[in-house]
Amino acid sequence: MNKQFDVIVIGAGPGGYIAAIRAAQLGFSVACVDEWKNDAGGPAPGGTCTNVGCIPSKALLQSSEHFDHASHHFAEHGIGVKGLSMDVAKMVARKDLVVKQNNDGILFLFKKNKVTFFHGRASFVAAQEGAYEIKVTGKAEESLSAKQVIVATGSSARALPGVAFDEENVLSNDGALRIGAVPKKLGVIGAGVIGLEMGSVWRRLGTEVTILEALPTFLGVADDSVAKEALKVFGKQGLKIELGVQIGDIKTSKKGVSVAYTSAKGEAQSLDVDKLIVSIGRVANTQGLNPQAVGLQLDERGAIVVDADCKTNLPGVWAVGDVVRGPMLAHKAEEEGVAVAERIAGQHGHVNFATIPYVIYTSPEIAWVGRTEQQLKADGVAYKAGQFPFLANGRARALGDTTGFVKFLADAATDEILGVHIIGPMASELISEAVVAMEFRASSEDIARICHAHPSLSEATKEAALAVDKRTLNF
Ligand SMILES: Cc1cc2nc3c(=O)[nH]c(=O)nc-3n(C[C@H](O)[C@H](O)[C@H](O)COP(=O)(O)OP(=O)(O)OC[C@H]3O[C@@H](n4cnc5c(N)ncnc54)[C@H](O)[C@@H]3O)c2cc1C
Repeated sequence: MNKQFDVIVIGAGPGGYIAAIRAAQLGFSVACVDEWKNDAGGPAPGGTCTNVGCIPSKALLQSSEHFDHASHHFAEHGIGVKGLSMDVAKMVARKDLVVKQNNDGILFLFKKNKVTFFHGRASFVAAQEGAYEIKVTGKAEESLSAKQVIVATGSSARALPGVAFDEENVLSNDGALRIGAVPKKLGVIGAGVIGLEMGSVWRRLGTEVTILEALPTFLGVADDSVAKEALKVFGKQGLKIELGVQIGDIKTSKKGVSVAYTSAKGEAQSLDVDKLIVSIGRVANTQGLNPQAVGLQLDERGAIVVDADCKTNLPGVWAVGDVVRGPMLAHKAEEEGVAVAERIAGQHGHVNFATIPYVIYTSPEIAWVGRTEQQLKADGVAYKAGQFPFLANGRARALGDTTGFVKFLADAATDEILGVHIIGPMASELISEAVVAMEFRASSEDIARICHAHPSLSEATKEAALAVDKRTLNF
């Protein structure tokens, strides 16, 4: 017999589980279905983000950063370390524990908010009298129905044509987070966020890392000045980054992986590595959903077509997160999930795409919100810019981490903040001030006039805002 709910959410990643909880809080009866399995075959809600994305990558970045500090920076503080070693198995086990704590936390929140969880694959069966029948295939088979369905099935790593992930030698983000010993040489194809973060983890542990990127420009999505600074700093750290390459044959053997490629200068090259991470983008997960059964519209890349409110072409069917257009970010998925639950309840859920922050958790960290200088130029917007280096910030000096700067871009006529770009320590935390300011349509002068704690990295934000009007308090 059909189990009936007001709302069925398919997928328990950050888009799905947040939507399910918000819908339950708004008084709906809610089912959430997710197929992710932990190593014991049990449920592991949290999606890519919790299991093989945001959370485990940050756990490994933290461990490797501690090792890097102990190896290279403790001595500056007078701390001597003898016999430093790295137990990779322990680092990975700690990461697994952090993941499990998050999986358990979501199951707890489902219980607390009375969301009924089903472990298995959900697929559309039919639409009848305004309700959708959904089949769940798992240990037990279930049939569910609801008038409102939120699809939040996320995305998976894109493989290079003809080179499948074996997760031994050729790794997706999943295998990259499970490497059991420090490789001597690691290749990364794709100098995007995931490639840079994963490359950084292993570079800090002593691996020789080479990143091959097809595009001729580095981090084209970031502000040009930030991208230039990042390329310089990563190079100094020992990350080899080759731009404008064309990947050829990839061969795996017992010894590792051999990548043939053509360099930007047109020379034939080959890269021999122990492991190869392929991080060239992600594809929407719609294969298992059986969208044809109900006529759910997909685009040419397999993503679900939605409007600005996350409505699909079917009444009562919504889609959020990586499976739809827009940046593939956990917090974007969460915001859409909340907004859709509120829209179903007749409220005015809202997502402001203009103030979604972007973060790359390398060291230095990179974070930004709003438009880049090159976008403003292309859009013909008259703007003013202000920049302040961490080198002149007391807290950064005390931390021993003075790389990078904060950059403000403000409207030339109104002084409204149009973009804030940070490369430096704790950029991921500092960017929130800019997000709040932009959400309230603040001017750079507003930030310049707000009292910031001393000594703090946020004083660099205030100084960058002051610099927009060619002022400073620091020199
Ligand atoms: C290595 C890495 C690092 C990242 N780091 C960050 C970061 O620091 N910050 C950030 O914002 N983003 C980061 N991301 C991106 C982030 O993980 C995604 O944007 C986010 O997980 C998308 O959330 P989602 O809910 O749309 O989908 P997902 O998290 O992919 O969740 C979808 C869920 O649906 C399930 N599912 C799919 N099909 C079905 C079906 N038919 N039936 C039942 N269940 C199904 C899947 O098993 C999965 O559990 C990272 C990604 C990677 C790979």
